[in-house]
Amino acid sequence: MKKFNVPVFYKSDLIGKLKEVRKAKDPRKKDYAPSFLDFGPVQFFISRHFGFCYGVENAIEIAYKAIEENPSKRIFLLSEMIHNPQVNSDLLSRGVRFIMDTSGKQLIPWSELNKEDVIILPAFGTTIEIETKIQSIGIDTIKYNTTCPFVERVWKMSKKLGDGDYTIIIHGKAYHEETRATFSHASKESPSLILRDLKEAKVLKDIIIGNRPVKDFYTFFEGKYSDGFDAQKDLNRIGVVNQTTMLATETSEIASYLKATMLDKYEEAPVKAHFADTRDSLCYATNDNQRSTNELLKTGAHFAIVVGGYNSSNTFNLATLCQEKFKTYFVSGPENIDLENNVIHHYDLENKLETSTSNFIDWNKEPLKIIITSGASCPDALVEQIMTNILKCYKSTKSTTEVMESF
Ligand code: SF4
Repeated sequence: MKKFNVPVFYKSDLIGKLKEVRKAKDPRKKDYAPSFLDFGPVQFFISRHFGFCYGVENAIEIAYKAIEENPSKRIFLLSEMIHNPQVNSDLLSRGVRFIMDTSGKQLIPWSELNKEDVIILPAFGTTIEIETKIQSIGIDTIKYNTTCPFVERVWKMSKKLGDGDYTIIIHGKAYHEETRATFSHASKESPSLILRDLKEAKVLKDIIIGNRPVKDFYTFFEGKYSDGFDAQKDLNRIGVVNQTTMLATETSEIASYLKATMLDKYEEAPVKAHFADTRDSLCYATNDNQRSTNELLKTGAHFAIVVGGYNSSNTFNLATLCQEKFKTYFVSGPENIDLENNVIHHYDLENKLETSTSNFIDWNKEPLKIIITSGASCPDALVEQIMTNILKCYKSTKSTTEVMESF
């Protein structure tokens, strides 16, 4: 895989070495078992795959290049480049400004921009409407476009579905930048609808098979279907694509459910006449990270720490998986962990807000077994910092060199 030029302060010697060793032992990525680092009183189960993915490294390289190449120009990010607070705030500290927030709310009016400005398009991609707007100002949308190729692949799959006259069902979060971008690209090709989860798929099924009146479609899915969507005729032939970072299990459940719905309704017809049997469009990083997390669930850890931005969809899903078995702390960085007072500030997945837990470490427990992983937009340096901070609380731990030598 291509090597990117990522600033050294995002990297970690320890994690870098660990990843190198695992890659050398398992170049074909067949082994998803965690790495076990035994420091004596503290043991870490570290996910086989985690941290910066291809798309994030690509975006970071382009963004820092944009800053370096344009010292006298104003540089804007369309919105958060990736969902990681440390990366975004470092870019802001270098003078980059956001045009919109993550929900799409305009922070800087278009009228304030001119053709001398530089705009970095985020890894999630953007809508056709926004790209056209930027071009109309005279700003290049190609040179500093960090759209991940795995997101573009979803757009290509959407085009293929559109070419086959399928309505495009996008399994994703309607508010997420990537899904908004995919919806925009898909709508150009064919009628499109965003579906969040199986609950919504069940409502769609009821409408498709006639258990609910067609008019319910427009109220239930308000704001999630393309202009001119005709629920009477546009739900007869459908295909599914996904936001690249959804939960793999949910994704396949929804596709199977919708396929079964079409088979039920059109039992005489061949499947392809009503349902495009495509593979999911999750990206490799989502698959690798989630598969690795499933292996973490087989360990006997005391708790799990998942590191990443609270608005990072892929990190959220890793934390959701960990939570199935372990007490899980979804933190955005080492600053969330106050070891002196034994308090951890973390994201509550159900209530979607930050909460705090006291006495999260039982100091009498030895060895303390901790799972650690991070999302695709989280720098390895943060993971190492968390590990180092925890290790410092114990008097007699082995050095990282000793541990890595025996790894
Ligand atoms: S998580 Fe996947 S789609 Fe998103 S930037 Fe990374 S590789 Fe690309």
